[in-house]
Amino acid sequence: MNLLIMGPPGAGKGTQAEVLVKELNITHISTGDMFRNAIKEGTEMGKKAKEYMDKGALVPDEVVIGMVGERLSQPDAKAGFLLDGFPRTVEQARALDATLDSLAIKLDGVVNIVVPLEKLMARLTGRRVCKGCGASYHVIFNPPQTEGKCNSCQGELYQRTDDNEESVGTRLRAYEEKTQPLIDYYKEKGLLLDINGDQEIKLVLEDIISALKKPVK
Ligand code: ADP
Ligand code: AMP
Repeated sequence: MNLLIMGPPGAGKGTQAEVLVKELNITHISTGDMFRNAIKEGTEMGKKAKEYMDKGALVPDEVVIGMVGERLSQPDAKAGFLLDGFPRTVEQARALDATLDSLAIKLDGVVNIVVPLEKLMARLTGRRVCKGCGASYHVIFNPPQTEGKCNSCQGELYQRTDDNEESVGTRLRAYEEKTQPLIDYYKEKGLLLDINGDQEIKLVLEDIISALKKPVK
């Protein structure tokens, strides 16, 4: 199964992706994670991306598009993938269509997690992420069993540098301006699956799984 997961920053894409890829036995491809890894490794691309990410701005299309094109042609994507955080602009969506055509891959659905924008600031400023496996927690809404430690790998939890009020404000504006138009883009292709993300984490997962079982309209 080849899927996209969309929604504003803080909608719960990473949280749901972590479980979904195990259930569906597909590869999780998160562009945000790819950039954070590049920053950790100190690559040229990482250095360039960091300037944009810290401010909450989108990394330029040509950088992201090239990176995803390469990633999708790797063997583990053949078994199916869940693309998380990409596309974020209409130009990226068009480039993705072209890449998928050239690889003879068909998209099966676009999971769109819907959460009122006013709820996202609290979700993002309270987010804590595992340094080891990247799992997402929340100090109030989804706390780990032991404070500061990941439930599954015992890794240390940290706060992302872009999860501060100023960057979150910029990210939410970028979402509204540049990413929201993609909802219509995928609706017109008959691929969009709207999911209520404003409910308990496990209920969101149940809704995604049942939506994926129905044929897309
Ligand atoms: P995204 O990948 O879409 O940016 P995350 O999955 O990292 O978002 O979730 C953002 C924050 O919101 C995290 O702290 C996460 O624990 C929390 N969260 C995720 N889903 C829910 C939910 N359904 N209800 C409340 N908090 C949630
Ligand atoms: P995320 O982990 O999805 O919240 O992404 C973190 C940051 O990485 C974003 O605020 C952007 O700066 C950058 N980023 C991730 N994916 C993309 C993308 N598809 N296009 C542009 N920038 C991106």
